[in-house]
This record gives sequence, C-alpha cells and structure tokens, in this order.
Amino acid sequence: MRTLNVELGDRSYPIRIGAGLLSDRAQFAELENRKIKIVTDANAGRRYLPTLLYTLALTPEDVLVLPAGETQKTWTSAEKILDWLLASNFGRDGVLIALGGGVIGDMAGFCAALYQRGIDFVQVPTTLLSQVDSSVGGKTAVNHPRGKNMIGAFHQPKSVIADINTLKTLPPRELASGLAEVIKYGMLADAEFLKWIEQNLDKMLALDAEALTKAIYRSCELKARIVAQDERESGPRALLNLGHTFGHAIETFTGYSEWLHGEAVAVGLCMAADMSTQMGWLSVDDALRCTSLIQRAGLPTRPPVGMTPEDFLELMGHDKKVAAGKVRLVLLRKLGVSVLSADFDEKALLATLKHFTT
Ligand code: NAD
Ligand code: MG
Repeated sequence: MRTLNVELGDRSYPIRIGAGLLSDRAQFAELENRKIKIVTDANAGRRYLPTLLYTLALTPEDVLVLPAGETQKTWTSAEKILDWLLASNFGRDGVLIALGGGVIGDMAGFCAALYQRGIDFVQVPTTLLSQVDSSVGGKTAVNHPRGKNMIGAFHQPKSVIADINTLKTLPPRELASGLAEVIKYGMLADAEFLKWIEQNLDKMLALDAEALTKAIYRSCELKARIVAQDERESGPRALLNLGHTFGHAIETFTGYSEWLHGEAVAVGLCMAADMSTQMGWLSVDDALRCTSLIQRAGLPTRPPVGMTPEDFLELMGHDKKVAAGKVRLVLLRKLGVSVLSADFDEKALLATLKHFTT
C-alpha cells in the first residue's frame, strides 16, 4: 500500500493505493464515529458494496444505487441523491462516499459540494481512469444537454481509497482507456515515467499489483503537482489536457457513444505528438514511440473512418479550452515537456489533420 498526500493547504488529503483496501477498516479511520452514506452505480455496487458495507458496518439503507453510465451523469440524478440525503435527515457532519468510476465520483462529489453548502466526501474509485484522474483535483460536475461537465463545483475529497483489486472486474476496454491517461502523464510531464510504462505495460495489462500501484501513484503525483500550482485552472492545469482537444472532437463527432473517453484521448495523444514533430519540436522517433505504446495498450491510434480535417477544425473550435476565439493546443517540446500554445503554426495543425484523416 502506498499513500500520496495531495498538498492543498487546509484542503490537503491522502490518496491510498493498494490491493484489498476495501476490506481494511484501518483505511477508513477518518470516518470513525461519523454518519456515512454511500452512492454507487449498479456495476460497482453489485461487486463491491457487500465488502464495503461489511467493512464499515453499514446497512443497505445507507446506500443509493444509481443506474450505470455517462448518460446518468445528470442534474436529475444529482437531485435524486440530494432528495435521498434530505429524506434521510443526513446532517452536515455526515460523510458521503462515492463508490464507482468517474461518473459516480463526479456526481457524488458535486452533491457533497451542494448539500447544506458542502459536506465531506470520500472517493472510492473503482476504474483505472477514476483512480488516476478524477480522484485528484477536486473537479465535480454533472453534464448538461448543452455540454459535458457544464454544471459543477470545485470540492476536494477528504480522502481517496483506490483498491486496485477492483480493476480485476473492469472490462478490458475500460482498463485500456485508463491507461491512455497514464501514458498521457508520462508524455506531458515525465519522460522517465514514460519509459517505465513502456517497460511495464504488459505487467499492467496483466493486472500486476506492484506495477499498477506504481503507475497510479506516479500518475496521481504528477497530476497533484500540476493541480497544486493551479487549483482552479487559470494556467498550468490546462497542460493536463494533452490530447484532449483532438479527443473531444472525436467524442463529439461520434456522439459520445461508440468511443470511450480514453480511446479518443489515445488518438488525441498520437495527433498531439505528430503535430509536435511538425512544429520541429518532438523527434519523429519519439512520436513513433508514443504511438506504438498506445497501440500496445490496445488503444486506437487513428480517428474514426470518415472524420475529415474540416470536422476536426469545426469541432475543435467548440472546445472549452478556446481562449479569446483562438484554439489553444497542448503540444510537446520534447517527451515529458509540454506547452500550451495558441500561436502554433496553422500549417502544422493542417498537416497533422491531413495525415490522420487520409
Ligand atoms: P464510469 O464511471 O462510467 O465507469 C465506466 C464503467 O465501468 C461503468 O459502466 C461502470 O459502471 C463500470 N465500473 C466501474 N467500476 C467497475 C469495476 N470495478 N468493475 C466493473 N465495472 C466497473 O466511467 P470512468 O471512466 O470511470 O469515468 C468517466 C467519468 O469521469 C466522466 O464522466 C468524466 O467526465 C469523469 N472525469 C472526471 C475527472 C475529474 O477531474 N473530476 C477527470 C477525469 C474524468
Ligand atoms: Mg481525460
């Protein structure tokens, strides 16, 4: 088991990572003598609620199980959670636990931020993506028909308990999707870590506990370092969006249904690497290293068939990371060194779009 402290002054909190944490009461020591409620979804709940209820000596009345899926990340579901908390007279001193992937984490965190102007919450992430990404940084939200994560709040958890045993039941596509974000951290902030991922990818795909613990720890550490500099995303935090502007265009193009987020990001990472070589920054060899790693992880490296450069340009113009009407892209100066660039060469972007769509 490893513990990482996310340093955010009086909002600092520990992330505990290891195998079997769900059945270890000591991991939940902060919750001793607190009233606890759990929000989960059908998939995570079915598998892991019995253990968690036993560990915390709770009963099924202390749990709200929501249907699974991104389509459930709505204001309507949030209202259900808030209604349920009110109906059960949950006090301001209570703690809300989110057991599940990023959808449950974002939604339960959002409700914890709103309920009686803010109560404590603990994340128990059960997908690789939520363990390496949504558990750090305090962003919580629900989707709106006009856009993803458009209604939200910043609210840091009191602790994060990432039990890597939960990854054993994760569908392989979901595991790979989480690996895309792990690879992203290496590419944008730590070339040594990227090399380690190349060497340990097969172990991670085989769910080796030691390799996964290290990958999650380092990913959270890199994200936490960037978030600590910029909790509310006015500057460096945008670097975490490496590959995401291209990725969001793919997600929008495919209607947020066929492609998982990490799959779209994976292609986005390949495109960002390619464009960084077009800019004369990243070597062709290093861009190829990234693409081949992404491919080995079982992730796509090309956009969906039929998506044109024009589709990309139009959809990228609608990305949240657009400042003052100009697309800003995160690019690589070299492996492990990223920059947010608004004054990139338009020709480099067009060359990359062409290269990836023919
Ligand atoms: P998810 O929560 O939908 O989980 C993916 C699927 O796996 C779901 O069907 C879920 O029910 C199932 N599942 C969860 N745990 C399982 C397990 N252990 N075994 C088997 N099945 C399991 O999706 P996700 O990929 O975890 O998270 C995506 C969400 O996270 C998006 O809504 C995204 O916006 C959000 N997110 C937030 C942040 C942030 O900073 N707050 C960062 C990244 C992503
Ligand atoms: Mg992401």
